[in-house]
Amino acid sequence: MKEYNFIYHTHDVLVLGAGGAGLRAAVAASEGGLSVACISKVPPTRSHTVAAQGGINAALGNRNEDSWQWHMYDTIRGSDWLGDQDAIALMCERAPEAIVELEHMGMPFTRDESGQIYQRAYGGQKTDFGKGGLAYRACAVADRTGHSLLHTLYAQALRQNVEFFVEYTALDLIFDEKGTCLGVLAWDMESGALHIFQAHVTILATGGFGQVYAATTASTICTGDGNAMALRAGIALQDMEFIQFHPTSLYDTGILITEGARGEGAYLTNALGERFMQRYAPGSMELASRDVVSRAMAQEILEGRGCGEKKDHLHLRLEHLPPGLIDSKLPSIKEITRTFARIDIHKQPIPILPAVHYTMGGIPTNSKSQVVSGDKIINGLLAIGEAACTSVHGANRLGCNALLELVVFGKAAGELAAKTISRHNSHKIIIDSMLEAPLSRFKKFRQAKGNIPPNKIRKELQKIMQNHGSIFRTHDLMLQGVSKLAGLWRDFGDIKVADNSLIWNNDLLDALETDNLLTLASVTMASALNRTESRGAHFRADFPKRDDENWLSHSLAGLDSNGKVILSSRPVRLKTIEQGISFPPEERGY
Ligand SMILES: Cc1cc2nc3c(=O)[nH]c(=O)nc-3n(C[C@H](O)[C@H](O)[C@H](O)COP(=O)(O)OP(=O)(O)OC[C@H]3O[C@@H](n4cnc5c(N)ncnc54)[C@H](O)[C@@H]3O)c2cc1C
Repeated sequence: MKEYNFIYHTHDVLVLGAGGAGLRAAVAASEGGLSVACISKVPPTRSHTVAAQGGINAALGNRNEDSWQWHMYDTIRGSDWLGDQDAIALMCERAPEAIVELEHMGMPFTRDESGQIYQRAYGGQKTDFGKGGLAYRACAVADRTGHSLLHTLYAQALRQNVEFFVEYTALDLIFDEKGTCLGVLAWDMESGALHIFQAHVTILATGGFGQVYAATTASTICTGDGNAMALRAGIALQDMEFIQFHPTSLYDTGILITEGARGEGAYLTNALGERFMQRYAPGSMELASRDVVSRAMAQEILEGRGCGEKKDHLHLRLEHLPPGLIDSKLPSIKEITRTFARIDIHKQPIPILPAVHYTMGGIPTNSKSQVVSGDKIINGLLAIGEAACTSVHGANRLGCNALLELVVFGKAAGELAAKTISRHNSHKIIIDSMLEAPLSRFKKFRQAKGNIPPNKIRKELQKIMQNHGSIFRTHDLMLQGVSKLAGLWRDFGDIKVADNSLIWNNDLLDALETDNLLTLASVTMASALNRTESRGAHFRADFPKRDDENWLSHSLAGLDSNGKVILSSRPVRLKTIEQGISFPPEERGY
C-alpha cells in the first residue's frame, strides 16, 4: 500500500461517467446545492451517447394524438413483459417534461412546419395500446440527437460548476465494513497518480458492455467497467442474457444506420428484391421491434437469400425517398455511407447486417435508481443509464427509449441525492483494509509478466461471444461457448503487460478492461444457457416459445469467491404504485 501516494478528494456526490446519464445526474445534484465530482475515462463529449442518432421518445402528440399510457404499453410489450412496470410508468409519464427541459437548456430540436418539435416513427410503437396506427414519438435533432443532447448537458454541467476529472479511469468501488459505498479508487492516466474520491452518494453511470461482441455498434470504450465493479463488490447483475442486435449496421464496419431511416420510410430487401418482412411481421413490417427484425434478417441469410457474392448481408433502400427529406432528416447517414462504403443513397441500396447495439442487463436497481442486492438496498450507491438494469427495457429495448431513460433517471438520481444528503455530514475515514482488494487487482495486472498480450484475449472473447451467444442460441452452442470462455480464462492467467509505468499505460488499461469484459461475457453466457425459453432478444432455437409459468422473472448472476457464476432470480414488478395502471402479460406479435 505504501508504494502509492494517494490523492484524496471529498465531495457530496461522485458521478462515475460523463455520458448523458452521468451529466444529467450531475446537473440535478449540483442544482440541488451539492458539490459534485464527475469522473470520465474519456473527454465527456466523447462518451458513447454522442453516437446516438435517431431520437428520444416522448408522447408529445405533435404529429398525431398520443398519450404516455400508450407509450408505456408499447414499452412493456417491447420488453416482452420483463420490464418493471413501476419504472416504465415513471419514465413514460415524465418524458414530455424531460423534452421541454432539454429544449429550455438549449437542445436544438428539429422542428416541423408549424414550429413544433418534429417527431418521427420508430419500431414497435403504435397508438391506442398497440391497436392504432404508427405513433410518431421520437423527437430528434436530424440524425445527430445524442451529439446534441450530450453537448447541451455538458454545457449545463459546466455552468453548474460540476468538477470534472477527465481521463481518469475508475478501478473499483470502495465500501466500509457495513457495505456502504464510500467512493471510488481511480487512476489518472495523465499523471499516473492514484486518487481516492469520497462521497456521500456515488452514482454509477458507466454505460453498457457492447464490446463483449465482435460485431457491435458500441464504441471501444463500452467495456462495462461499472458492471464489473459491481460484480466484484458482490452485487449480482440482472438480465445479462438480453443483448440487443440492431437490424441495420453498415456491412463490414459495424457503424450504425439509424432506425430513424426506416422511420422516414426506408425498407429492407433480400437478394431477390423481396420486402421479406412481409413474411415475419405483416402488421408492422420494417417497424416491428428490433429483435423481430434482426431475427428475420438472420433467417433470410441462413436460408440463402442474402445479397452479394457471399450472400451474407441484406439491403436497406432509401432511393425512393425525396432528396430533400434525406438531406434535412438523415444527413449523417448520407455522409457515413458515402465515406465508409462509397454509396450514394439517393441511387444505391445500403448493404447492412444486424450488430450488437445495446445491453439490456446491468446493475439491478429499484425505480428510484438505488442499487439493490436481493431485497437489500446498497447504501450510498445509485446506478443509471445503460450500466443499470432499472429495468425499463426488460428483454428488448424500444428505439429512442435509452436516451429518455438517461435524462429521466439521471435527473431523479441527482434529485434523490440532493434530498437525502446533509452537507454537514462528515466523510468516513477510509482505512487500508478497504483498499486491499481494489489495489491488489491493479497491482496484479501491472506486474503481469506472462506471454499473451491482453488485446489478443479481447479479440478472442469477442469472437467466442459472436459465434456462441448470438441471435440464434441453443444449449449445445452455448455450452461450447462456456467451455471456450473457461479456456480463455486460463490463457488470461498468462497475460503480459509490457509497460509497467503508470503514465498513459494503454497496455495496462487494456488488461483491466479485458478483465471486465471477460467477467461480463462469462455471466452473460451462463445466464443465457440457464434461461430455457425465448423472450425478447434472447432467442433459443431449442425453446422457441416464451414460458411465463417458469420464466416471468429477472435473472441474477453473481460470482463466488472462486469466480464461479452463481445464478438466481427475482420477480418482475408487474404493478405500478403511483400511476395505478398496469398491463398483464399478453402474447406479443407485430
Ligand atoms: C451508435 C449508437 C446509436 C444509438 N442511438 C440511440 C438513439 O437514437 N436513441 C436512443 O434512445 N438510444 C440510442 N442508443 C443507445 C444510447 O445512446 C446509450 O444507451 C446511451 O447513450 C448510454 O448512455 P450512458 O450515459 O449510460 O453511457 P455512455 O454514454 O456510454 O457513457 C459512459 C461514461 O462512463 C465513463 N466510464 C466508463 N467506464 C469508466 C471508468 N472505468 N472510469 C471512468 N469513467 C468511465 C465513460 O468515459 C463515459 O463518460 C445508441 C447507441 C449507439 C451505440
